[in-house]
Amino acid sequence: MRSLHGAGALVSIDLNAICDNWRLLAARVAPADCAAVVKADAYGLGASRVGPALAGAGCKHFFVAHLDEGMALRPHLPAQATVYVMHGVPPGAEAECAAHGLVPVLNSRQQIDAWRDVAISLGRRLPAIVQVDSGMARLGLSAPELQQLAREPSAFDGIAVAYVMSHLACADEPDHPANAVQLANFVAARRLLPAAPATFANSSGIFLGSAYHFELARPGAALYGVAPVPGRPNPMRPVVRLQGKVIQTRTVAAGAAVGYSFSWVAPQASRIATVSVGYADGYLRSLSGRGAAWLGETELPLVGRVSMDTITVEITALPEGAIGPGTLLDLLSPQHTVDDVAARAGTIGYEILTSLGSRYERSYG
Ligand SMILES: *Cc1c(COP(=O)(O)O)cnc(C)c1O
Repeated sequence: MRSLHGAGALVSIDLNAICDNWRLLAARVAPADCAAVVKADAYGLGASRVGPALAGAGCKHFFVAHLDEGMALRPHLPAQATVYVMHGVPPGAEAECAAHGLVPVLNSRQQIDAWRDVAISLGRRLPAIVQVDSGMARLGLSAPELQQLAREPSAFDGIAVAYVMSHLACADEPDHPANAVQLANFVAARRLLPAAPATFANSSGIFLGSAYHFELARPGAALYGVAPVPGRPNPMRPVVRLQGKVIQTRTVAAGAAVGYSFSWVAPQASRIATVSVGYADGYLRSLSGRGAAWLGETELPLVGRVSMDTITVEITALPEGAIGPGTLLDLLSPQHTVDDVAARAGTIGYEILTSLGSRYERSYG
C-alpha cells in the first residue's frame, strides 16, 4: 500500500481529454473508422485505463506492439473490440495468440505461413492484418515477397485478411516527398494481396488528407495530446499534468555551486528548491540546465544537473516563503506541454510520455 504522501510526484491523466481527442480524429477521418494505438502501456499513460475509456467513447479497434501487451489489454476491453498485435506473433506463440482472440499483424512470409498453419490445424479461418513495407524498411512484406505471394493464391488459405496495412516514415513533415511515394507504393502493393480494407495513417498521416485515410486510421500520439503536425497549432487537448514535490529549499551565496559536477554556479545570492523528480522517473537528464518548473505562471529555471531522484530549480523570483516542503510545482501541464518540454530536452513528445516513470502517484480524471 502506498502512502498518499509518499510519492515524489503526481501525474494526472485526463481520460476525457483522450476521448475528446479520439472523437476529433474520428470525425476527421469519417467515413473511415478510427482505431487507437495503445502500445507501450498507452504511451506510458496506462492502457488498462485508457483502453476502456476509449471503448466507452466508441473506439472498436486497438493496436499494441507486443503479444504480451495484447494479452494484458484484452480482458479490459469489451468483447466486440478488436486488439491487433503490430509485431505479429513470435514463432511458436501462434496458438496462444489465437486462443486469446488477438489479431496479429503479419509482417513476413514466415508469419503468414505460421498463422496459416495454425488456422488449418484449428480448422477455422483466423483474422489477421497483412503489413507491406511501402518504403520505411522497418516491418512488412518486401516487394519481392509480395510478388512471390501473388503467384501463390493458397498462401492465405485459412486467413481472413481484415486489413492491408503500411506505415508512414515522414508523415510529420507534410511536404516530404516520401509521403506520396509511400502512398503510391501502398496502393500498388494492395493489388497483389487478397482484396481487403486498408489502414495506413498514424496521427500525423491523418492530417495529410483523405487520400491517406483508407478504411481505418491508427493514431497514437495525438490521442495523448502530442501535436500531430509539428510547428502548426495543436488541435488536440492536453492530457497529462506532472507535478513534482518540493522537498527542501535553501539560500545559496553568490559563487556557490549547485548539484553534480558544479555545472551551475550562482551568479548572485539565490534561492533553490529541490524537487523529488529525477531521471529515474523519466525526467530526462538532457533537461539539465534547460528544463523548468512552474508555480502558476512563474517559470522557475532548472539549475545544475538532473540527478537520479531530484532536480534543483531556482526560486529567487518568488516571494520568500511562497514555496516549502510539499509544494507542488508543474513540470508538465496544459500550459507547458509534452511538446514544449520535448523541445527543451532535444527529443519528441512521444519520448517524454513513454519515459514517465513508475514511481509517480497516478490519478485519472
Ligand atoms: C506507433 C504506431 C502508430 C501510431 O503512431 P502515432 O505517430 O503515435 O500516431 C501507428 N502505426 C504503427 C505501425 C505504429 O508503430
